[in-house]
Amino acid sequence: MNNPTILIVEDDSSVRNLIATTLRSHDYSYITVQNGNDALAAASAGECGIMLLDLGLPDMDGLEVIERIRSWSKMPIIVISARNADSAKVTALDSGADDFLTKPFSVEELLARIRVTQRRIEDSGEQLNSSVYENGELKIDYAAGCAYIAGEELHLTPTEYRILCLLAKNAGRVLTHTYLTQQIWGSSWDNDIASLRVHLATLRKKIEKDTGSPQYIQTHVGVGYRMLKHD
Ligand code: CA
Repeated sequence: MNNPTILIVEDDSSVRNLIATTLRSHDYSYITVQNGNDALAAASAGECGIMLLDLGLPDMDGLEVIERIRSWSKMPIIVISARNADSAKVTALDSGADDFLTKPFSVEELLARIRVTQRRIEDSGEQLNSSVYENGELKIDYAAGCAYIAGEELHLTPTEYRILCLLAKNAGRVLTHTYLTQQIWGSSWDNDIASLRVHLATLRKKIEKDTGSPQYIQTHVGVGYRMLKHD
C-alpha cells in the first residue's frame, strides 16, 4: 500500500517533532505547518492524503479549519487535541473530523489510527481531494469559490453557494431541512427552514432551465432536498 503524505498541523514544536519523527521512521512523507491559514493552503494544494490537526492554533480554531476544508474536500482529518471533554470530541466529529486522539497520545495509537484511515480511503476508492465538482452542465470550482452552468458563471449569494456545495457534496442523498439549516445557520428553527425555502427558490432560478421540472435540485416535500446526479 502506498503511504499517503501526511499534513501535520501543530503549533507546539515538541509535539510536531514527535509526530514528524514517528512518521519518518515508518516511511511516511509529511508536510508540517503551524497555523490554520497554512493548513488550508497546504490542503488545497492537494498533495496530502491525511491531515493531523491540532485544535488550539494561533490564528484560528482547528474547528474552523475543519469546517472550511469540508466545504470542498473529504480529506480525512484526525484531530489530535488536549481538549478531552466528550463535548469537544463530539463537536469536532460533527464538524467533519474523521477521528479524535487525545493528548498525550501514544505513537503506536497514532500510527494505528492512520492505518485505519488509510484502509478506509482505499476501500472507498473515492476521489477525496478533488477541488472541481462536475455534474451535467453544473460545475463548481471549490478552490475558487465559483459555480458555472454550461460554462456561464453563476452569480450566487454566499448562502446560495453554501447550499449548492452542501447538496453537491452529498449528491444523490436527500439532505433534510434540519441538516441544511444546522450547517448554514447553526440552528433549525421554523424561521430558518422558511429562509432555506427562500434561498432554495432563488438558487433554483439561477441554475435550473425550468424551475417547474428541476434537473438538479429535487424537492422531497416535508423532508428536504436532493442533488440529482447526471453523467
Ligand atoms: Ca496548539
